[in-house]
Amino acid sequence: MLYDIQQIRADFPILSRTVYGKSLVYFDNGATTQKPRQVVEAITDEYYNTNANVHRGVHFLSQQATELHEASRETVRKFINARSTNEIVFTRGTTESINLFVSSFGEEFMQEGDEVIVSVMEHHSNIVPWQLLAAKRGIAIKVIPMNNRGELLMDEYRRLFSERTKVVSVTHVSNVLGTVNPVRELIDYAHSQGVPVLIDGAQSIPHMPVDVQQLDADFYVFSAHKIYGPTGVGVLYGKEEWLDKLPPYQGGGEMIQHVSFEKTTFNELPFKFEAGTPDYIGTTGLAKALDYVSSIGMENIAAYEHELTQYALRRLKEIPGMCIFGEAQERGSVISFLVGDIHHFDMGTLLDRLGIAVRTGHHCAQPLMIRLGIEGTVRASFGLYNTKEEVDVLVSGIERVRKMFL
Ligand code: PLP
Repeated sequence: MLYDIQQIRADFPILSRTVYGKSLVYFDNGATTQKPRQVVEAITDEYYNTNANVHRGVHFLSQQATELHEASRETVRKFINARSTNEIVFTRGTTESINLFVSSFGEEFMQEGDEVIVSVMEHHSNIVPWQLLAAKRGIAIKVIPMNNRGELLMDEYRRLFSERTKVVSVTHVSNVLGTVNPVRELIDYAHSQGVPVLIDGAQSIPHMPVDVQQLDADFYVFSAHKIYGPTGVGVLYGKEEWLDKLPPYQGGGEMIQHVSFEKTTFNELPFKFEAGTPDYIGTTGLAKALDYVSSIGMENIAAYEHELTQYALRRLKEIPGMCIFGEAQERGSVISFLVGDIHHFDMGTLLDRLGIAVRTGHHCAQPLMIRLGIEGTVRASFGLYNTKEEVDVLVSGIERVRKMFL
């Protein structure tokens, strides 16, 4: 299939705007992605034509809205190849998915002295919930270290297991280093020890085909807004046999079967974990976004972004004083860097004046910054609509900033 970049860019109206009189170069896709017309129009259309609360009404609109919402669940199921829609829980995003998991799994399966294994390159959202559980329950957090290229040390990983290890929770792709972790290998080893695994897919789902059955992940989480969908909605995938065993996370409407003051029974999967009115408009937007990327093809997106990232790495390395953090063999389309002793904040601010949106700071991964011995980086993260010409604009922008600091 021909990758029609001009057509793709035309689907994202925001890409043709200017900032400070310069054409926008949007390289902050790791934080959030822009939205195609198709997603925005589907959201508008539902508000204009089909809006009603789901699962509640006998009336026409409510049934239509419910059908749309449940069709979106099926779209998600198909996209990640889950076995059943019972395994697709809608949440507010990756962060809520992880909090739900930690809270429910911790309550049911973890006692004082039990252990979770995470990696040194986790986002705060896969660290702090475990720390909250540690404060409540006295569990211990063990950390997989990495080498200087940003690759996890697999021997060390295997050594971290003990009879108190209850769960492994790791990111698929680092939001700072771009490292694609060998999750299938991590999962296989954990399973050989009888331990389930949660994969944080926030940075993998937009960039590569993901098949949860092929990965054999017990849980996989992601946010819609990082894959060209709306903010405020996300997914917790869990194997049905696991979700069945977990207690509800929040109480309220939707998640119950029957309520009395004496005894309440809970709804079946996946509704047991979906208290309150769901973001049914958001799930429509998410489904449209998944349809959108599927129409281009995740394999095609992965190949396109790979070539773009290789080009960017090559060009950036030509800049004197360039230091790139993350040189893993397997890497995604995130590039973190510093140039000489120019502060990341100065670089980001000056690039912004040239119309280039990059991220600066610790990227919600302060333990990783400590491991790298730095305070923060500049991060350029690419999406399916970015181009080599935009990379050239970034490179000449960095050159300009560098010369100002000479
Ligand atoms: N995990 C990773 C690896 C991320 O990059 C992010 C967001 O940057 C998150 C989790 C949190 O995602 P959200 O803020 O959408 O909940």
